[in-house]
Amino acid sequence: MSNEKIPYKIYLEESELPKQWYNVRADMKKKPAPLLNPGTGKPVTPEELGVVFCDELVKQELNETDAYIDIPEEIQSFYRMYRPSPLVRAYCLEKALGTPAKIYYKFEGNNTSGSHKLNSAIAQAYYAKKQGLKGVTTETGAGQWGTALSMACSYFGLDCQVYMVKVSYEQKPFRREVMRTYGASVTPSPSMTTEVGKKILAEFPDTNGSLGCAISEAVEAAVSKEGYRYVLGSVLSQVLLHQTVIGLETKAAMDKYGIKPDMIIGCAGGGSNLGGLVSPFIGEKLRGEADYQVIAVEPASCPSLTRGVYAYDFCDTGKVCPLAKMYTLGSGFMPSPNHAGGLRYHGMSSILSELYDQGLMEARSVEQTAVFEAAEKFARVEGILPAPESSHAIRVAIDEALKCKETGEEKTILFGLTGTGYFDMYAYAAYNDGKMSDYIPTDEELAKSIATLPKVE
Ligand SMILES: *Cc1c(COP(=O)(O)O)cnc(C)c1O
Repeated sequence: MSNEKIPYKIYLEESELPKQWYNVRADMKKKPAPLLNPGTGKPVTPEELGVVFCDELVKQELNETDAYIDIPEEIQSFYRMYRPSPLVRAYCLEKALGTPAKIYYKFEGNNTSGSHKLNSAIAQAYYAKKQGLKGVTTETGAGQWGTALSMACSYFGLDCQVYMVKVSYEQKPFRREVMRTYGASVTPSPSMTTEVGKKILAEFPDTNGSLGCAISEAVEAAVSKEGYRYVLGSVLSQVLLHQTVIGLETKAAMDKYGIKPDMIIGCAGGGSNLGGLVSPFIGEKLRGEADYQVIAVEPASCPSLTRGVYAYDFCDTGKVCPLAKMYTLGSGFMPSPNHAGGLRYHGMSSILSELYDQGLMEARSVEQTAVFEAAEKFARVEGILPAPESSHAIRVAIDEALKCKETGEEKTILFGLTGTGYFDMYAYAAYNDGKMSDYIPTDEELAKSIATLPKVE
């Protein structure tokens, strides 16, 4: 099909929206390693996980066999309020770059939370409500997950308690107010409201907080209160599963026009948007039906795939969560304070870690000034002000499109544009003022945090 016929935005009809999520583990011959109980060193049981997570989500977390899982009708109807998200042909960016490459992006920022996180928040809140719970607890870093979860909880009338990494709590007061507007309570982490928070504060009184630490506090808050469970916005297999609406919609939209991406690019923090975007495509790869180049993009200041080790590690600083086998920098790793965006988690989804280990996916790390340069270029020609996280993917998409300009190849590049950056204006200000710097951890620093990995047989 000729270029002219492809519209700027490819939408789907309501009837074409996914009715099931896709579970890529079903098509993986070698499955991701199981979560382990840190006490016994044995795979966690559904009963053990059920203390922390909602029952239905535990089933999804442990389900390695069903390729498709029905999306309950109530979640589908919530999705219809803001989905399908547009698949955009970046004609303006292509022109500005002068590239023969064809660039597409799937834009997930068209909802109040400003990111893809709502896709999983609404699912997790639904299952909590169905179980008759009073509320849920969680952590949030940059704030997108907390915002999405507070929206989802208010929709279902659930209480929502958010532990927000202290530095973000202070730097992003407006994110905090969006959450409070949707009825959530927001506590800066580490806090004195939990035992683990007190312990971390006693040891590191000046800490700015970290995701790993906020996770520990949120888990403790959930298990110590009747009628509460903990929910998480990334990393877990259940979250990747919910996020496959992104990839399923993208694939359906591309199939309509006979478009096949050569290359699929996404930013990777805990791996949920990337996993959600690429799963249906990787499924084809695993079944031998098609081939795609898949690239995970991470910050050079928190390089879990490109410089971490593939090993069992704690998911949180307080070491209260199960152990997961993943590419990790060690649960004590703290990204440099000059790191602006999200994508600061020390580990990576165990599904993506295993796919990467099997060579089904590549990874690149990029420095933040280069990321903001790409963000600005993109904003000026495509109109959307991208989130710093999303801009990691933009950076590599632009780099690849420029390579095509040199070689004359007409590659089709697809990337995930996960959200908008309106709450990240301090970071944009630092960039605009020429005050943004890059920080790349030394091998010694990484070796130090990697040395604290738990010993697992
Ligand atoms: C949370 C977030 C990410 C990173 O999380 P993943 O789980 O790796 O997808 C990326 N972009 C935006 C806008 C986010 O809010």
